[in-house]
Amino acid sequence: MEIFKFGGTSIASSEAIKQVVTIINNYKKTDKGIIIVVSAIDEATDKLSRALDLAVTQEGGYQKTLEELKQMHKDIANSLFPGSQLPEIIGNINLFIKEGMSILNGLHLIKEITARAEDQVLSLGERMSAYLISEYLKLHYEKLHLYDAVDLVRVNSKTRNVDLDKTNANIYQAMSDCSGVGIIPGFIAGTENNIITTLGRGGSDYTAALVAEALGAKKITIWTDVDGIYTTDPRIVPTAFSIKELSYEEALELSHFGAQVLYPPTILPALRGNIPIHIRNSSDTVKEGTVIQSSSRSGHIVKGISNVDNISILLIIGAGMVGVTGTSSRAFNALSQHNINVVFVSQSSSEHSICIGVSTDQGENAVEALRDEFSVELELSRVEDILLQNGFSVIALVGNNMNHTPGVSGKMFGALGRNGINIHAIAQGASERNISAILKTSDAKKALNLLHEEFFLSDKKQVHIFIAGTGNVGQQLLNLFVEQYEYLKEELDLVFRLVGITNSRKKLIEPAGIPWENAIEKLEEHGEKADFVGFADSMKELNLRNTIFVDNTASAEVSSAYSDILINAISIATCNKISASSGYNEYSSLKKIARRNNVNFLFETNVGAGLPLLSTLHDLLKTGDKINRVEAVLSGTMNYIFNKYCEGNSFYDSLNLAMDAGFTEPDPRIDLFGTDVKRKILIIAREAGYRLNLEDVKMQSYLPDECNEKETVEEFMEVLKNNQDYFSRQWDDEIQNGNRLRMVAVLDKGKASVEIKPVGHDHPAYELHGADNIILLKTRWYKDTPLVIQGAGAGAEVTASGVLNDVIKTANI
Ligand code: ADP
Ligand code: ASP
Ligand code: MG
Repeated sequence: MEIFKFGGTSIASSEAIKQVVTIINNYKKTDKGIIIVVSAIDEATDKLSRALDLAVTQEGGYQKTLEELKQMHKDIANSLFPGSQLPEIIGNINLFIKEGMSILNGLHLIKEITARAEDQVLSLGERMSAYLISEYLKLHYEKLHLYDAVDLVRVNSKTRNVDLDKTNANIYQAMSDCSGVGIIPGFIAGTENNIITTLGRGGSDYTAALVAEALGAKKITIWTDVDGIYTTDPRIVPTAFSIKELSYEEALELSHFGAQVLYPPTILPALRGNIPIHIRNSSDTVKEGTVIQSSSRSGHIVKGISNVDNISILLIIGAGMVGVTGTSSRAFNALSQHNINVVFVSQSSSEHSICIGVSTDQGENAVEALRDEFSVELELSRVEDILLQNGFSVIALVGNNMNHTPGVSGKMFGALGRNGINIHAIAQGASERNISAILKTSDAKKALNLLHEEFFLSDKKQVHIFIAGTGNVGQQLLNLFVEQYEYLKEELDLVFRLVGITNSRKKLIEPAGIPWENAIEKLEEHGEKADFVGFADSMKELNLRNTIFVDNTASAEVSSAYSDILINAISIATCNKISASSGYNEYSSLKKIARRNNVNFLFETNVGAGLPLLSTLHDLLKTGDKINRVEAVLSGTMNYIFNKYCEGNSFYDSLNLAMDAGFTEPDPRIDLFGTDVKRKILIIAREAGYRLNLEDVKMQSYLPDECNEKETVEEFMEVLKNNQDYFSRQWDDEIQNGNRLRMVAVLDKGKASVEIKPVGHDHPAYELHGADNIILLKTRWYKDTPLVIQGAGAGAEVTASGVLNDVIKTANI
């Protein structure tokens, strides 16, 4: 005997019902019977449940909901049946609706839902679908029989459990000699007195398993709207895929912890009868779907990840519980007496607190039940408090083989921790078939995607990027992402998705991804008005795993959001110098926040653009090195000016040449006063472990005092023009001796300064061209000959490549 169950979506339209016939015909080649269990048409039970809720409100409004239900069924009937048959079919649909309406009218009067009335109303969905489909099947099969589930599926009216012996016997007696097509509504059952009752939401699957067990079927096929049981909920994780095989135990864990596709009680009759359950897609019958049977060949160690929302935590806290036996058992007894289902328990080994997870709709009752039970202890302060906290989800990893594999939970919690997801409680069953974590529901989607990637798609890691700034560096960075995309994907297994981009005019957020190739065009075309606070808020609210914020601006508004961004477990890669060179407290607190939240705050390009300076410093310090002295030429602009000066130009002319070539800041005083160089040596000093502020960086004066008093650039230039001698007196002897001038930043035993220094042929800074920087590090390991880092220290290309390097470093953790 073949047992097929069709879910709500598999019969949701006339086409879907016609497909039922196609599926039957594919299988019914012999004289063997076939039993079809049907759910209510998609959403019918939801509508009935809503109508019940509305009926007991003052306003009512259930009539409209019933009306929609009627229309839904009539629409299907209209395209399934010939005109001659329609009046009778529509007449019967009307009768079902009339029955519902009169019960609901009664409930509306008394403003109370009784269990019996509820069951009678809820059962209408299956009664109507079974009626419609049986009438339709009669058009195709001579031997068609509609069974009454109230007669066959027996439920004990007190315990509400299925009476297996009676049910088995009833079904066997009624169906075992069926050689045609039998149809029975799922979900519905009857008590000893033939009062209609139901098996719980999703219960049609269970009906199918009961029928299969009673008839000793070879398998059960559950036809639904997806290709089987997926690795995780496909509505939340788009990359989820169908699992080929599961053991009964694995399927039980997955369905129990939220995989809605299968109603958990279904598994027990199948397990008792050793009957495989096939879950298949009725609209794509080529797909094999999932088979659940006694053993499953292992593929992945973790078979699936499930998720239950609407969980509340009950916390029983108190020092008075330590060492006192029976506290937990009293708590569970009290909850069970109030019919409250415990989803989850964890108790600290100190016994100071017990944490119990329950469904949120039972939370208030549960806390009352516990406060009642422990009223004396509460009064005597042996129990300090019993708290209820809402808004949680349980995420569970499921797999038979997890018990042979160390490190699964380490991997799970490591991944969650790196993404700033706080775990409120943990439970691992002794079978080790399930590891569950309770976390905030607002983190559940992120956690599911993250864990799915970690355990099922671990060869590629998806990284989400938000970018601020589309100037020279920003554009160059986008180009690099385009150029390197394939390489990063294939060689480093990193897939970068651009989710948000903003500049000072516009912002664009696109969770599905903005194409790297034409991100700036998209921003211009589809972007809204820029607002960085809103941009940062979206970045936090989206709460995507592996998120990195890239700041290519020089904006104080953007850098002022860093701490909030880091607190939200988002890493930062930036060439914006403001934060790292601001007050020491701000700098160090950002670094601390990053550490505490397990994220990166990287700004390699703040000094020497893409040159690997800060990372080298970190590497040296990590291995016990000490930075004794740093000597660094960090301004390409000043090199240019001094090179021109050494060639025989006046200082004023040299500056003008640099300005004409576009090498200076718009206000050249920023270069000449060494402001930028001071910031850079400050950052080096801090990264080398010294607690300095900008005021601590001394600058030896080399400009006439008058320069400080001038307001405009023109006035300032005028002073330089009129004071050529001032420079000759300082430097010309040195130049005659063959030396060159450099603006050198020095860090010596924790003291930072900037000076103009003559360097001879033998000094590594003598030959410096263009925007090149040079950094000489004398350290505990590099005592006599310094470690030298030299190369281009400015320019969009090298800066962008440095930023990208920080991004990759972060993504690779
Ligand atoms: P039916 O009406 O056929 O009984 P259900 O709505 O009860 O179908 O269950 C199927 C739905 O369960 C799918 O459409 C899917 O969105 C959802 N679902 C949740 N978790 C999973 C999972 N792990 N695998 C497959 N489907 C899942
Ligand atoms: N129609 C019922 C429900 O929606 C039973 C089922 O579909 O399995 O819960
Ligand atoms: Mg279902």
